[in-house]
Amino acid sequence: MHEVSVMSGIVESVLKELERHDFLRVEEVQLVLGELTFLGEEQLRFAYEVITRGTPLEGSRLVIVPEGTELECLACGYRGKAEMVGEEFHMAMPSLACPRCHGKVRVLKGQSCRVTSLKVVQE
Ligand SMILES: [Zn+2]
Repeated sequence: MHEVSVMSGIVESVLKELERHDFLRVEEVQLVLGELTFLGEEQLRFAYEVITRGTPLEGSRLVIVPEGTELECLACGYRGKAEMVGEEFHMAMPSLACPRCHGKVRVLKGQSCRVTSLKVVQE
């Protein structure tokens, strides 16, 4: 499961960050998750629970904030949401081509998988 290795990296960096702070316990970890990462939310939550066991993060809440895809077209200058393609709704995926001219694009948003905030309880 790809989610497990991604989550171990995230947990590791959060634990490292926590070493520099005084706290009683961690309440919440907020993670921004881009749709282009194609990581499963449920799998991430499960991995989080397993990996944080026995660490200061055990029992904390993982809040996942979804990030939609945003593109910038290198040909026409379009900036905005990606077009969703796919026959069925559940198969729909963001298209990495400009919705206006189908030119080459640069991805502005949608690839994030990073912790944006930590809520800790201090003495
Ligand atoms: Zn374009």
